[in-house]
Amino acid sequence: MRVLISADMEGATGATWPGDVLPGTPGWSRMRRMLTSDVNACVAGLWEGGATEVVVNEAHDTQRNVLIEDLDPRARLLSGRHKPLGMMQGVEAADAVVFLGYHTGAGLPGVLAHTYLGAGLTGFRIDGEPADEGRMNALTAAEHGVPVVLVTGDDLVCAAAAGWAPGARTAAVKECVSRYAALCLPPERSAGLIREEARSAAAGAVARARPAPVRGPHRFEIDFHATHQAEAVAAVPTVELTGPCTVAYTAPTATRAARTFKICTVVANAAAEQGYG
Ligand SMILES: [Zn+2]
Repeated sequence: MRVLISADMEGATGATWPGDVLPGTPGWSRMRRMLTSDVNACVAGLWEGGATEVVVNEAHDTQRNVLIEDLDPRARLLSGRHKPLGMMQGVEAADAVVFLGYHTGAGLPGVLAHTYLGAGLTGFRIDGEPADEGRMNALTAAEHGVPVVLVTGDDLVCAAAAGWAPGARTAAVKECVSRYAALCLPPERSAGLIREEARSAAAGAVARARPAPVRGPHRFEIDFHATHQAEAVAAVPTVELTGPCTVAYTAPTATRAARTFKICTVVANAAAEQGYG
């Protein structure tokens, strides 16, 4: 059984504020070890549960965060940017997927909550439901008939996962206190928890038949903090302005919808001005 780990960083053990996850900062350098520890615990558990191949797809920022020199040799690392499926690259060749180090979405409670952009994007809905990166990526997995079997992060993303990956196991490595504060398990304890849940997740995936692929179309709606960002994003083909600060589009597949979403965030980010957003 081939398992893909989509590895984000905001939901890693100990990460609680931007300086922990912004590449190039001293905090990020230190937190890379925490992320790698979470990944290794997951790889070990997946292997014990029946996985025979594990690919770790870097899914945070520059997508160069995991310390390959410390990575469990049973896994391979997909490192770097500009991958056609982004955070979900490799799902097409997987039998199951893990969302590791995930977080809740923009405008929702949760440690380091955001959706792609750290700021500027204030709300996101898919087919009318409150959405986050987890829901969007779970939809891409579902389109490929690949189950999400484990979600790790804070307690709130683990709770949110019940809404978009109801069959997944969860490992909460910290309890949210505020967007920038959490009650964290030390890595030794979080590793034990992740390993145990990964083992159960893999064993469950081996035992169950893969789900039938879920087809589109899907409607994505995005809120920005100010009008100019929504107006700039409305230039993206298929995207229309539906409110002063809101855009929406319908895409035939989850994969296409996610790719358009990425373009929207790049355009919105480029439209932001220093100090005013
Ligand atoms: Zn991230």
